[in-house]
Amino acid sequence: MENKHIALPLKYRPMTFEDVVGQEHVVKTLRNAIGSGRVANAYLFIGPRGIGKTTMSRIFAKALNCINPKGVEPCGECDNCREIAAGNSLDVTELDAASHNKVEDVKPIIESVQFKPTSSKYKIFIIDECHMLSNAAWNALLKTLEEPPEYVRFIFATTEGDKVLATIISRCQRFDLRRILTHDIVSRLKYICEKEGIDAEEDALLAIARGAEGGMRDALSSLDQLISFKGNKITEEDALGVFGLVSRSALEELAGAILKGDAAKILESVEMFDSAGKNMRRLAGELLSHFRNLVVLQALGANSKSLEATEDQIKVLSEQAKGVDPSRVFQVCDQIAQMEDKLRYVLSVRTLIEMSLIKASKIATTATIEELMRAVKKMKGQGIGQGQGQGEKPAVKIEASKNLQERPIKPVASHSLPSLSELSKPKAPAPSLPTPSTPPPPQPVAKTLDNREILDDKLLNDILMDGPGAQVTDIRTKRR
Ligand SMILES: [Zn+2]
Repeated sequence: MENKHIALPLKYRPMTFEDVVGQEHVVKTLRNAIGSGRVANAYLFIGPRGIGKTTMSRIFAKALNCINPKGVEPCGECDNCREIAAGNSLDVTELDAASHNKVEDVKPIIESVQFKPTSSKYKIFIIDECHMLSNAAWNALLKTLEEPPEYVRFIFATTEGDKVLATIISRCQRFDLRRILTHDIVSRLKYICEKEGIDAEEDALLAIARGAEGGMRDALSSLDQLISFKGNKITEEDALGVFGLVSRSALEELAGAILKGDAAKILESVEMFDSAGKNMRRLAGELLSHFRNLVVLQALGANSKSLEATEDQIKVLSEQAKGVDPSRVFQVCDQIAQMEDKLRYVLSVRTLIEMSLIKASKIATTATIEELMRAVKKMKGQGIGQGQGQGEKPAVKIEASKNLQERPIKPVASHSLPSLSELSKPKAPAPSLPTPSTPPPPQPVAKTLDNREILDDKLLNDILMDGPGAQVTDIRTKRR
């Protein structure tokens, strides 16, 4: 028989501020409040389910009423701490407003407020899912909330902050709890597996964290479920099966195919995921976060805290980031975000994903306006089209300028060429330019450059190709 089992979410519920994962901004403020003795009358914790609102409320209640606090942390051992943890402290009342939302349900609170706490400093009321309270119940509470006795503190928690009345929010110190970052969940799961003697692949833990979407409680429940299902050895395959997720490497390969413009590989992968019964909407969401990570990595570097990735993921991201210009990644990200949005309305999920990803791959392999602008600026920087100095390659200079100007302009000596910036200004032409008052013999209507001529400009292409950190596809070969 199995030994007696305590559910992991319960066993590893954080007991002190120190243990809380991923909510540093809230923890810091609460600790400071306790440390400085400036505790507000009411607190409001807002955030999605399973990220620790109730846990945070209990830790805060313990810290406020602990008899032997260690600094600002509750000791966890005194009578008050233990009673609060067990949910039977006389001075801490918890109300679940999801099932107790009427005036009669809050009456006992209003009545008990007038009595001092029995054995603690504060009388604390924790009201969970407070957005469910009826208006009548709120109105009954409001007076107490406005002028509570000095020993009374309220802690409200809710998943839906926008449903809480403004009059209530304005009387509370409000905290928005975040979804917990994937790699934070992974490290917590790793720690727990070590403690529990579970041999789990890192990618298995990553899959659990991905499936939990920022909720630590869900992650721990899933781990629990997998352990009872698979025993002490957990592979990525096991974890992926539970959530219908695509493996990390398959996801990264698909992203790589998009960046390389490999339509065949894209279609093949989508076909494979679809026939394996993977959750295609989740796939879209995960691709989006992959490309979001790429954008972050290119903008802020591999050590950025905004990266939502494990070390292994960061390695792959860094490789992929080297091969493509940031402006393209940004546009790919945008394209995939649009796809994810449309997925909500379409019936043929697979077709939309295929078409969108192929479009994304086209974007990833086509030079953007930003890249062209940079290339043109660089040409300017090299003195092309400018009368000044360093005329190392006069022949190229003339040729490039010819290409960038409109065709009918007569070839002129390189020393009198206008600079590019002059050309782009709507000012009167420089006196050395042929003036319209002396038109040459009738020419065909001024023809603007077609794409081909720009793309065939050797110098422009050379610059595009050796742009910093960007391996730019030669657009000439793409066109043919
Ligand atoms: Zn204590």
